[in-house]
Amino acid sequence: MEVLPIVVPASNKLKSFNFFLVQQENSLTLIDAGLNNDDCWNSLQKTLKDHDYTLTDITEILLTHHHRDHVGLVNRIVLTHSIPVYAHPYAILVLKRDKEYVKMRVEFFRKLYREMGCGEIGEKQVADYRNPIILNEDKKIHCEIQGITNNQLLGFDIFEIPGHAPDQVAFYNKECKWLFAGDLLIEQISSKAMIEPNYDGIRTKSLVQQKQSLEKCLLLNAELVFSGHGMIIEKPVDLLKKRIKEIDEKASKYINMIKSGFTTASGIAQVRYKDKYEKQFFTTMSEVIGYLDYIEFQGNIKKEMKKGIWHYSCN
Ligand SMILES: [Zn+2]
Repeated sequence: MEVLPIVVPASNKLKSFNFFLVQQENSLTLIDAGLNNDDCWNSLQKTLKDHDYTLTDITEILLTHHHRDHVGLVNRIVLTHSIPVYAHPYAILVLKRDKEYVKMRVEFFRKLYREMGCGEIGEKQVADYRNPIILNEDKKIHCEIQGITNNQLLGFDIFEIPGHAPDQVAFYNKECKWLFAGDLLIEQISSKAMIEPNYDGIRTKSLVQQKQSLEKCLLLNAELVFSGHGMIIEKPVDLLKKRIKEIDEKASKYINMIKSGFTTASGIAQVRYKDKYEKQFFTTMSEVIGYLDYIEFQGNIKKEMKKGIWHYSCN
C-alpha cells in the first residue's frame, strides 16, 4: 500500500485541505475528495499525472464524512467514469440533499436554538441558513452512494468515529498501522465536535462521541494519521492523549461558569465567545451545547426547562 497525498493550501487555520490516493495492487482508491474548486481539481490531476495515472485509473472513492471540504470533487470525478462511492449510511441523506431530511434538520435547529435561549438571533440564523440548505442543490452528490456496512473494505478495517460529524468513519490499515480518520485529529487545532440531529431528529451527544472516538483511535497505536487538514501526523499517541485531556480541562471551565451563575447555553456562549457568538453562531453554539451535554452526561450538571428554555445548574 502506498499513499499519494493531495495537499491543497488553505488560507485559514485549517492550513490545508488533504485527500489521498491509495495505491494497492489492484486498486487506486481516493479517500475523500477535497473542495469543489479548481485548486483541488488541479492538484488531484497533477498528483495523478506525476505518478503516470489519469482520472480514469481511480477505482473507487471512500468518504470519511459528509462535510463539503471532503466530498467536493465526487461529481466531477464520477462524470469522467462511473465508479463506486462509499460513505457511512448516515451521510447518504445529507449528500443526496434528501428534502425530508433537510426539512427535519432545519426544524431541529430552530427548536434547539429556541430551547437554548438564543431568541431572535437563533431564529434569524435558522432563517439565514434555511435557504442556502434548500438551495444547496449544486452541492448534491448525483451518483449512487453505497452505505458502508462492512467493517472491512479494500484492505482497511473500518469503524465509526462520530463526533466531528455523526457519519465520520475511519479507514485503518493494520499492516502499515496507517489511519485515515477524516477530521478527528488535526495537528494544529482541536477538531470541533458538531451538534447534529441523528436519523430520527434526536441530538447526538457529539462531544461524548468525539472523546470516545479519540479513545478508540488511541488503542490502535497507529504509526501515521492521514488527517483531513494540516500535517500528516506521525506517532499520534501523544496528540490523541492531549486532545482527550483538553476536553476535560475545558469542561471544568464550563462548570465554573455555571457555578458563577450562567444558566443558559446562549448566556454562556455570549460571555465566553463575545462577538463570535453572532459571527460564528453555528460553531459557537455547537461547542457550548456539546460541552453542556458532555458535562450532563458525566453527571456534574442537570437541566430544567423554564418557560421553554433549558437552564443548567450544578449537581
Ligand atoms: Zn469536517
